[in-house]
Amino acid sequence: MPTNQEPIKSLWRATAITAPHVEKLTGELTADVTIVGAGFTGLRAALELAEKGLSVVVLDSHEPGWGASGRNGGQVNPMGHELPEEIIDHMGDVFGPRMVQCYANSANELFALVKKHDLKCHATQNGWLRGAHTRPSILKIEKLAKAWAAHGLDLNLVEGNELHKMIGSQAYSLASKVSSGGSVQPLSYARELCRVAQEKGAQVFGQSQVNSLQQKDNRWQIQTDTGKVTSEWVLFCTNAYTDKTLKGLKQSVSPVISIQAATRPLTDEEYDEILPQNNTLSDTRRVVYYTRKEENRRLIFGSVGLAQDCNGNDQIRLQKGLEKVFPQLSAKDIEFYWGGKLAVTPDGLPHLHEPAKGILAGLGYNGRGVAMATLMGRVLASRVLGTTKEDLDIPTTPYGSFKLRPFHQLGFPAMVKYYETRDKLEEIFSK
Ligand SMILES: Cc1cc2nc3c(=O)[nH]c(=O)nc-3n(C[C@H](O)[C@H](O)[C@H](O)COP(=O)(O)OP(=O)(O)OC[C@H]3O[C@@H](n4cnc5c(N)ncnc54)[C@H](O)[C@@H]3O)c2cc1C
Repeated sequence: MPTNQEPIKSLWRATAITAPHVEKLTGELTADVTIVGAGFTGLRAALELAEKGLSVVVLDSHEPGWGASGRNGGQVNPMGHELPEEIIDHMGDVFGPRMVQCYANSANELFALVKKHDLKCHATQNGWLRGAHTRPSILKIEKLAKAWAAHGLDLNLVEGNELHKMIGSQAYSLASKVSSGGSVQPLSYARELCRVAQEKGAQVFGQSQVNSLQQKDNRWQIQTDTGKVTSEWVLFCTNAYTDKTLKGLKQSVSPVISIQAATRPLTDEEYDEILPQNNTLSDTRRVVYYTRKEENRRLIFGSVGLAQDCNGNDQIRLQKGLEKVFPQLSAKDIEFYWGGKLAVTPDGLPHLHEPAKGILAGLGYNGRGVAMATLMGRVLASRVLGTTKEDLDIPTTPYGSFKLRPFHQLGFPAMVKYYETRDKLEEIFSK
């Protein structure tokens, strides 16, 4: 049985639209495509494929949106961590520019999908601010902004008083603003993707953990505890919750814990002062802060953490962060804490793998998965629908590998502490 813990008290779970009805898989089915994982990646792929008339079975060991897709900050952030030129250098002249365009268009793609299917997920496209927390990071933001704007991203810089008013805080003196960025209620978004995929004919099952995969007569048999699906294609959309079912996939990513808090509903005065234009905000810290308001007037505040249940020191990190960025609020204003796992890759970019005929995997969004997982689902579907590898938006690559991956996990708490200390020292010495 799954061992991953439920988020303890997630605001998204308390406020999301009703979960779609899904049952546990029992018995045997055949389908054109089996999708493992019912998050944004798997559900977008399911929707695209079912819309084209393919028979699709989605299997999740928990329920749709249970993974990072139902727990994240809901920030639709359309820009990579690297400079476009670095991506192009790394991926080459064909796929490099395509990946840059994927990032640049990813938010618009998500909001167009929401509009097309009228997904009820409080989608708001009011722009994403990325604040520089030190003087050196101002230079970094300026460099990134200039480079991404040259590649077509709708981006400008905001500073000084104008920025302080846009945030309701003096914590940052300069930020980039990407107009196409925005936010969704992530669990509602996942559930709505599921609803529409089901309406188009996809069969979605919960509590159905895939345990094994076997090839037989050019088809794949996908086994759960209580059922089996036989299909030509199997798509692994399991991101940071990837287990050992598909050999080698788990080692290609490293899970990172992200944690969040939600305050009580803000007063009218606070609501008008904090992020008055309903922008989303993240920053340049290594142990990042990210924040936004949501439809019930609460402020969401996130960072990197040590455990999905977001207890103890993780809660303290969020409390201190909140008070630092928004001194008008305090730890006692927080009413919800929760966390989840996202996946990072060795090169910081998302990956599409095709390790055997009929097997695909799309994962590794490095904290940009709301928009990019949505996009990856479409790319996975287009491969199944006949697009050649050469014509895909994202290249199919061999599994990447982390040097000393097991130590990544063991050393994660020390790494967070180390990066947090560096962030603090930089703040002190670069004032
Ligand atoms: C707290 C937090 C905050 C974040 N904030 C943001 C943000 O603001 N903006 C942003 O862009 N990104 C953010 N992210 C990252 C983003 O949420 C993810 O990149 C994205 O949701 C990944 O979607 P996915 O569908 O690929 O995977 P997931 O949503 O993680 O889904 C994977 C699913 O696979 C299932 N599964 C795994 N193994 C099996 C198996 N063997 N059989 C059956 N099912 C299986 C799991 O149950 C799970 O439901 C955040 C992540 C977290 C955790």
